[in-house]
Amino acid sequence: MRLVRKDFPILNRHIDGKPLIYLDSTATSLKPQMVLDAMDGYYASYSANVFRGIYKISERATSCYESARERIARFIGAKKKDEIIFTRGTDESISLLYYSWALPHVKADDTIVTTIMEHHSNFVPWQQLTKSKGVTLKIWTTDANGELNLKDLDSLITRKTKLLALTAVSNVLGTVNPIQKIIGIVKKLNPACLVLVDAAQAAPHMAIDVQAWGADFIAFSSHKMLGPTGFGVLWGRRELLEDMPVFNFGGDMIKEVHRDSTVFADLPHKFEAGTPHIAGAIGLGAAVDYLSGLGMDAVREHEIEITSYALGKLSEIRGLSIVGPREAICRGGVIAFTMGGLHPHDIAQILDEDNICIRVGFHCAQPLHEYLSIGATARASFYIYTQKTDIDALVLGLHRVKKLLG
Ligand code: PLP
Repeated sequence: MRLVRKDFPILNRHIDGKPLIYLDSTATSLKPQMVLDAMDGYYASYSANVFRGIYKISERATSCYESARERIARFIGAKKKDEIIFTRGTDESISLLYYSWALPHVKADDTIVTTIMEHHSNFVPWQQLTKSKGVTLKIWTTDANGELNLKDLDSLITRKTKLLALTAVSNVLGTVNPIQKIIGIVKKLNPACLVLVDAAQAAPHMAIDVQAWGADFIAFSSHKMLGPTGFGVLWGRRELLEDMPVFNFGGDMIKEVHRDSTVFADLPHKFEAGTPHIAGAIGLGAAVDYLSGLGMDAVREHEIEITSYALGKLSEIRGLSIVGPREAICRGGVIAFTMGGLHPHDIAQILDEDNICIRVGFHCAQPLHEYLSIGATARASFYIYTQKTDIDALVLGLHRVKKLLG
């Protein structure tokens, strides 16, 4: 996988004379030249609006925009491209579900289940339903290893459960949840219970097949999988999406408007009001082509190798404590840790002197940190361009931190 590094222009640049050691791909990934070229190509050569123009460059923009939808659908195993709704990212995809599915469908007597390891984007909307609708929220907690016990589902899922909203991969613990198994159990316990999978940390890193999973909705973000920021996807089963009211109003999401009535567009356009992020779709289309070219099994294999190496090296640092599963095979390419009483912000600041980029804080998963009874954590995360020498640099940097602050 080392060969891919040449495809990422930012890795060929130095900052203050030093190379970039980028270990924050869980926050956002770097972008390969192929994605930059695809987006630049749109702006430079055919930057017209979609669906509206009866002229060549507009028709080309429409065709590239819809071709991206088709390739993204294939990438996640969706049956039809119409089930792919373009959004601004995972947050907006889940918010869309909150407004268009949950508010009209969920009643005071219903229950929603989520997990303690969720990013706020898949936690806060369901928590808010307890306030706006009086819904009961059950929170599935992890064992000491940071993993969910599937036996808990027997008590969590009842006839009253309307939705299980869970992440495929934790952005802090790194835990990879066995989504297909979980959904299989849930549907046996209550076939009417829908399952929303937050795939923000799965879609970039492993092969996804929404049909095999048996999911009802999944959400993910372009910028974590080599694509541009401000763009993402909500996938849903067609009959569910068709049954949901529109989310935003505006152009292109309507078929007809009269003085007293409006006929909304069909899927997916009824959820995509206004001029969309055309370059975003084209960029994500190029990103999924790039990832498919590498092969998602190879992507995952590289991630396990780097994570395994990092787990070994970091465990050798005295006083450093890693959260989440011990085995690389059970986790994504992310390692959150604490170092005794050292403040993570101080750690990150010292590492930054050598251009080593890590993330510190709660990583938008504050309930998880409270559950683990820890304050902020430092987090190093990896992707296809991460090499073992990046991990070596991190380890050296952490020894330097200890010398300076310890
Ligand atoms: N879900 C998970 C698991 C994440 O890691 C993130 C971002 O870090 C999100 C949701 C939110 O993604 P975005 O900010 O792209 O909407």
